[in-house]
Amino acid sequence: MPAAFLGHGNPMNALERNRYTEAWRVFGESVPRPRAILVISAHWYTNATAVTAMPRPRTIHDFYGFPQELFDVEYPAPGLPELAYQVADVCQPRWVGRDIDSWGIDHGTWSVLLHAFPDADIPVVQMSLNAFKPTDQHLELGEKLRPLREDGVLIVGSGNIVHNLRAVNYKMPDSPFPWAQRFDDDAREILTSRPSDIATLDGHRDYDLAVPTPDHFWPLLYIAGLAGDEPLQPLVQGHAAGSISMAAYTLGLTCASEGRGDGAAARLPEDVPWDESNV
Ligand code: ZN
Repeated sequence: MPAAFLGHGNPMNALERNRYTEAWRVFGESVPRPRAILVISAHWYTNATAVTAMPRPRTIHDFYGFPQELFDVEYPAPGLPELAYQVADVCQPRWVGRDIDSWGIDHGTWSVLLHAFPDADIPVVQMSLNAFKPTDQHLELGEKLRPLREDGVLIVGSGNIVHNLRAVNYKMPDSPFPWAQRFDDDAREILTSRPSDIATLDGHRDYDLAVPTPDHFWPLLYIAGLAGDEPLQPLVQGHAAGSISMAAYTLGLTCASEGRGDGAAARLPEDVPWDESNV
C-alpha cells in the first residue's frame, strides 16, 4: 500500500479548490482502495502516543474564528477499533494508548481527506504525536508501522514541513521567504534520496525558523521512518504566506498531479488569527 505526507495549510483548504487540494484528490484517486487510513495529524499533539479506537469517531472542529461553513463540515468516516489494537501491537515495546472518548477526526485529517476520499466510507484511525518524545522516537515509530503498509492500511502524515505562523506575510500568498525555500529544498533532497536521514535537518541553519514548534514537522518523521531507504516522490510543491510549505510527497506511488488544478493555497479569512492552536 502506498503512503503519503500531505502539507495541509490552513483549514480553509477544506472548502476551496486549488492546486494542492487537486493534488490530494489525484492522490486519493490513484491509490488502491485501502482497508483503513491511519493518519498522523499535526493537530493531535499531546502527552502520549495514542490512537483513536472508537467505532464512530466524531469530527472535531479544533479552531476558532473561522466561517460557520467550516464548523458545519462533517467527515463521517467510521473508525476501526481492531486497527487500534494492531497499531499498539506493531509499536511494541513503545506504548500506544487506545483513545475511546477524547479525540476523533481533527482538521489536520479531514481537511485533506475531504478532497482525497470525499465519500468518507473508508475507516479512519488517527495517531497522536507525543510532545515529550525526541525526534528519533517519532522516526522509529514510523518504521514500526511498516507491517500495516503490507496489510492494506494507507498511512498518511498531515502537517507542514515549514510552518512558522509568526512570520506569515499576507503579501506573499504563493511564495516563500528565502529561509523557507532553503529548508523546503533541503528537505526535498533528503526525502527523494534517503528519507530516513530526515532527522539531520535538526541541525539545519534554518531549522528554528522553519520548525519553531515540532507539531507540523513531526508527521513527516513517521512517513520518513516508514520509507527508510525508499525515496519519496514529490506530489505537489509550493508555499503559502511566505512561511508555510505546502509540499506533499507520496511513497510507493507516482501520480501525475502537477498541472492538475491551479491557484494558491487558501488564505485565512480576515480577522482570523494565525495561532498555533488554530492553524
Ligand atoms: Zn495545521
